[in-house]
Amino acid sequence: MGPQNPSRAGGGGELVRVSLGSLAVLGLEKIEMAAEPTTVYLLQYSPAGCGASCGFCAQSRKARGSRGEWLSRVRWPARPLGELLEALRRGRGRVARVCYQTILKPGFVEEMLRHVEALAATGIPLSVATTPLPRPVLERLHGLGVERLGVGLDAATPALARRVGKPYPWSAYMRFVEEGVRVFGRGMVHVHLVAGLGETPREMVEAMRRVYAVGARVALFRYTPLPGLPRYPGVSLPVYRALQLALLLLEEGLNPLDYIDFTQSPPKALKKPPLPGDRVLEAMLTSGCPGCNRPFYNETPRGPIYNYPSRRMLLERREQLARELEALGAGGWLA
Ligand code: SF4
Repeated sequence: MGPQNPSRAGGGGELVRVSLGSLAVLGLEKIEMAAEPTTVYLLQYSPAGCGASCGFCAQSRKARGSRGEWLSRVRWPARPLGELLEALRRGRGRVARVCYQTILKPGFVEEMLRHVEALAATGIPLSVATTPLPRPVLERLHGLGVERLGVGLDAATPALARRVGKPYPWSAYMRFVEEGVRVFGRGMVHVHLVAGLGETPREMVEAMRRVYAVGARVALFRYTPLPGLPRYPGVSLPVYRALQLALLLLEEGLNPLDYIDFTQSPPKALKKPPLPGDRVLEAMLTSGCPGCNRPFYNETPRGPIYNYPSRRMLLERREQLARELEALGAGGWLA
């Protein structure tokens, strides 16, 4: 079959990429999984990958030839959308969300709208993660039933966005985030930020504060070094834990700078927030849209685990996590 067959209603014959774990959840692959994804992750398909040149992304032009089926640590085989729609209808109860991620290619907006219309008809909550688009397209997505918007801002500062090769300026992403909040509502736009591209912890916290100040939220990723792509400095586990705590505090309407000193290395807890220990523990869960757990997207199951994909795993590792928070002077926050 050719990669594109727009004559089929709803784009059912067109290919989309699906994360391997998502295929397994849909019963279309058999693999061993230490944790199942609770969201089905789809990625727009192009045999040439994405037209952008982000230096940390396996779909970018920087990675040509080496990792066409990959995004971060995960394989994304291509499947006809129609096959996925059928599997989604069958497995609806097992899937909390569908996330449709776009790439830059000719005609990607029209294709996205076709696919989204078909996916929305399954009745499963739907997120679209995309690059800056005109407001009428956002309104169309919202009208078609997309519940939440994801925005791949990725870099914490404008200078870093330029350095890693983002296709648009940082300010264009932030304007898009604000437009997204106007169309989808406060708390319904999830901004992807990648820790470890070369920002300071303080710069990352400032980026997070900007996002929350405009009514959006953060989905935090850890930079994952990939073969064949440029290397960035990365982020240590203590700094990542401090950023996760900062994100929790923002989610709770608190200012992280009142509770953690991000000028120290590693950051140091200043005082305990007025939150129960179990809530603090949840800071180490994968952040993002409800039901988005991205199992082992940024790390191997052997660990260290940066984003915990399930409450069960979190509770099993509570003591270890308490020790990790102790390194920041925040061990008592779990009490
Ligand atoms: S937070 Fe998860 S579900 Fe939401 S847009 Fe990002 S990857 Fe998709």
